[in-house]
Formats: sequence, structure tokens, C-alpha cells
Amino acid sequence: MSENNRLTEARQILHDYIKLKGLRNTPERQKILETVYTINTPFTVDTIWEYLTDEYHVTRVTVYNSLELFFKAGLVIKRSNGNEGLEYEACVQTQTHHNMCCTICNQLFEFKDPSIALFLSQKKYKKFKMTNCSVMIYGICSKCQAKINREKRKQKK
Ligand SMILES: [Zn+2]
Repeated sequence: MSENNRLTEARQILHDYIKLKGLRNTPERQKILETVYTINTPFTVDTIWEYLTDEYHVTRVTVYNSLELFFKAGLVIKRSNGNEGLEYEACVQTQTHHNMCCTICNQLFEFKDPSIALFLSQKKYKKFKMTNCSVMIYGICSKCQAKINREKRKQKK
């Protein structure tokens, strides 16, 4: 997915959310959303604020409130980042990683496969609008598979 598609979809989600909640659509909020979806890394309130402050008269509180709103609307994820406080990241149509879980040793293996998101994005689910996806595949890892094969060979002898 291109950056433009992501921003277009993010704008649509924000538009729908604001309408649903009876909020006002402000140009500042739109600019913050645009910045969030232009920056391709996790960011803090300060990152966005410093990015915008030269051109626009936004306060840190406005940035914070907007990011919290985006979080509620499912447009960003947030996590605690130690000393620096909260860290946010754009999450609409991002290429998230998927997991493979070995059912024998329970180890998780991360992998990326854009074709999964592409495939799922073309699907329609009843009463549910998908904004992102993460897949868990269960199976046997190569180490455990090798162990099993060794046991099999032992038993044959
Ligand atoms: Zn295993």
C-alpha cells in the first residue's frame, strides 16, 4: 500500500469517527494526522509538536489530545517508552509482522508477508471493518522437526 492510500484511509476513519462522536473537524487535527502518517517511525508528542511548531500554531496539549483521539479511533497504537513517556505509531495499513508458533517448544517466530494483508484487505467481513491484521500460524519448527526425525530414525534401528 502506498503512503497516499494509507493517509486517505486514515482520513476517512478520522472523518467517520469525528462524525460519530459529534466532534468538530479542525485543520490542526488534519495536519497532525498527515504528519503522523508521513513519519514512518514511532514518535512522541514532542516529535509531532516540534515538527509542526514552525509552521503551525499548535500547542503540545493539542497534539496530545489529537493523538489520544487518534488512539481511540484506532489510527495509532501507543506504548510506554520508559523515561520518554508515551510512544505512538501509525497503524492503518501498516505492514505488521505475523507469528508462527511451534506447538512443541512454544517458540514464536516473527515473519513478514505483505501478501497476507493484501489478501485480507480484499475480503469483506460482516459487521466488521478491518483496519489491520496479524496472523498466527501453528506448526512445528525446524529444530523440533529435526528432533522428531532423529527419534524416528532411532526407533527404526
Ligand atoms: Zn519447536
